[in-house]
Amino acid sequence: MSQQHKGFVPFTLSEHDQLTHLLARLLSTNETPIIIPGEAILGIEMIAAGISAPGRTILNVVTGPYGDIFGKWLERGGAKVIEIKVSFDEVATVEAVAAAIEQYKPVALSFVQAESVTGGTNPTAEILKVARSANLITIIDSVSAIGAEPVLFDEWGVDFVTIGAQKALAGPNGASAVGISPRGWEFISSNEHAPRNSMLSLLDLRRPANATDSFRVPANIPVLEARALIEALQLIEQEGLEAVHRRHRLASSAVIAGLEALGLEPWQRSEAGYAPLNTTVRIAKGTSLDIDKSIGIVAPGDGEMLHQLLRINHYGTNASLESIEQAITTLAELVGKDPSAALATVRSIWEAANER
Ligand SMILES: *Cc1c(COP(=O)(O)O)cnc(C)c1O
Repeated sequence: MSQQHKGFVPFTLSEHDQLTHLLARLLSTNETPIIIPGEAILGIEMIAAGISAPGRTILNVVTGPYGDIFGKWLERGGAKVIEIKVSFDEVATVEAVAAAIEQYKPVALSFVQAESVTGGTNPTAEILKVARSANLITIIDSVSAIGAEPVLFDEWGVDFVTIGAQKALAGPNGASAVGISPRGWEFISSNEHAPRNSMLSLLDLRRPANATDSFRVPANIPVLEARALIEALQLIEQEGLEAVHRRHRLASSAVIAGLEALGLEPWQRSEAGYAPLNTTVRIAKGTSLDIDKSIGIVAPGDGEMLHQLLRINHYGTNASLESIEQAITTLAELVGKDPSAALATVRSIWEAANER
C-alpha cells in the first residue's frame, strides 16, 4: 500500500481576499483589516508595541484585566501612560474620560469595549466621540464585543480595533484580526520604535497600496484556523449580524431576569454596563454560590475576580434558550432553591422576543 502524502493546501490569495472582505463587513469599514496570525491577544500586543514611544502620552482607560495588561505593554514601549481605572464592577463614564483628556492632553486613547472577565460594556460610541473631537488616535479592544454588540469602525472613527472569533462569533481562536485606519497606519509608520521584521510588527503585515499583483499571502497565517474563520464568518452572515446581536442581548436579559428571580444580584452595578456577551453574578458573603470549576457555561471568576463573581458565558452557540436554562438550573442548585419560577421567567422572555 502506498502512503498518502496529503500535506497542506496553502492559503490562497483568493481565500485571503475573501477573509478580509468578510472581516471588513463585520467591522462596517471600507478599510482592509489585517489578519493576525494568532489569537486576539497577539493583535493587542502588536498594537501596543506599534504605537508606544517615548514622548507620546497615551490615556488608557482600565475597566478590567485586559485594559490593565494593555497599559503595561504601552509602558514597555516607553510611552507616558496615564490611566483612569474604575472599580471592576463599574464601567467608564464619558465625563471622567473627557476630564482626563482635558487635564493630560494625550495623543491617543485606549480602552476595552467589553470585558468578558467583568461582564461590563463601556459607553463606547460616546467615549469615541469625545476622543475624536479632541483629535486623538483611538484604540479599542473589541474581542468580547464583536458579534454581541455593534462595532462600527468607520462611523465611530476608530483608528485601531482588535477582534477575535472565539467569543460571540462561535469561531476559532487561532487567527484573529485588527482594523487600522489610514491615520492609524501613519501613527505606527512614523514611530521609529515600532517593531519591524518581528512577529509583533503590524507594518510587516500591511498590504501595500496598488500592489495587487505582487502581494503574497503572509506565510505565517495559520491556514486551518484562517479557513475555519472564513466558515464561522459565513455562518454569521447567514444568520445576519443584527440577529446575532439580538440573540446575545436576549440571552443577557433572560439571564439577568432569571438570576434576579433566584434572589441573586448581577456583579455589574449599572444596567447600562451589562455586557450582551456574558453576565457576571455577584457572590454575596455567606452564599454557597462559589465554585472552583466550570459547570457548563457557569464559570468561576478569572484571576482577581475568583470568589467575587461567577461568569455566565452565554455567547456564541450558547446564546440559546437551552444553555441559559441549564445555567439557571445550575445557579438554583448552588443556592439550594427550586428553579421552576426562574425558568418560567426565562422562557417567557425568550418566547415573547421570538414571537415578535
Ligand atoms: C477574550 C478577550 C481577549 C482575547 O483573549 P484570548 O487570549 O485571545 O482568548 C482580549 N480582550 C478581551 C476584552 C477579551 O475578552
